[in-house]
Amino acid sequence: MPTKKLPSKKTVSSSVAKNAGSKKASTKVVAKRASSKDDGGIPLSVVIRKRIEAQKARFHANDNISAFIKPGELEGLVDEVAEKMQAVLESLVIDTENDHNTQNTSRRVAKMYVQEVFNGRYVDQPTLTKFPNVSRLNELMIIGPITVRSACSHHLCPIMGRIWIGVLPSKESALIGLSKYSRLTEWVMCRPQIQEEAVVELADMLEKKIKPIGVAVVMDADHFCMQWRGVKDRDSKMINSVMRGAFLKDSNLRREFLALIDRK
Ligand SMILES: [Zn+2]
Repeated sequence: MPTKKLPSKKTVSSSVAKNAGSKKASTKVVAKRASSKDDGGIPLSVVIRKRIEAQKARFHANDNISAFIKPGELEGLVDEVAEKMQAVLESLVIDTENDHNTQNTSRRVAKMYVQEVFNGRYVDQPTLTKFPNVSRLNELMIIGPITVRSACSHHLCPIMGRIWIGVLPSKESALIGLSKYSRLTEWVMCRPQIQEEAVVELADMLEKKIKPIGVAVVMDADHFCMQWRGVKDRDSKMINSVMRGAFLKDSNLRREFLALIDRK
């Protein structure tokens, strides 16, 4: 299955487009966007954090907090992260003023985190068009491999891998379009993650959306925190699987799924 572009991109550009409506409105939003602090000088991250805490919601690295972010604020967050990333570079004793290679690194890293690799924390879940199971399919469906690009919560090092999803729909299941499996996977993976939790989160979401008789998720990934640093073991991989419903109870179904996915 071809990899799709970040679902986030669309959301980001649409919120920008919304803001660029009338000239008056756009000036107002631009002024707000340019600042990483609110009117009282409080950093935007603190303002957002307070909203989350007021609702007693969780904001771990792999949680989505889009419900607490207002249009235009992501750009302010980029500014705030860039400022703090600049301080990290300074603490690493890098001469960002004279080293042309690192002059804009802080902003590049901030944009990469907020708008790309951790974007699944900040944007809404992709909309899923559901189709009634008209032909009453109740055969095993396998989707994959779906490319996974994520990062570990422990070191923020890349995790690159693949995912296979198995679904055994019931006659009453709501089916989702094939490309939606990739978009949903990408949304979950574009956050600092722990592989064991990521596969469970994806399986939970699919169960909730599709209400199948069974769902299975297998993830196979390279963890750069074991290759770039630490044990520096280039060939180590991590494989996780989650089996739910029929995949848990029926060993033939489980075997069929595992035999059909080609993990080579
Ligand atoms: Zn790690």
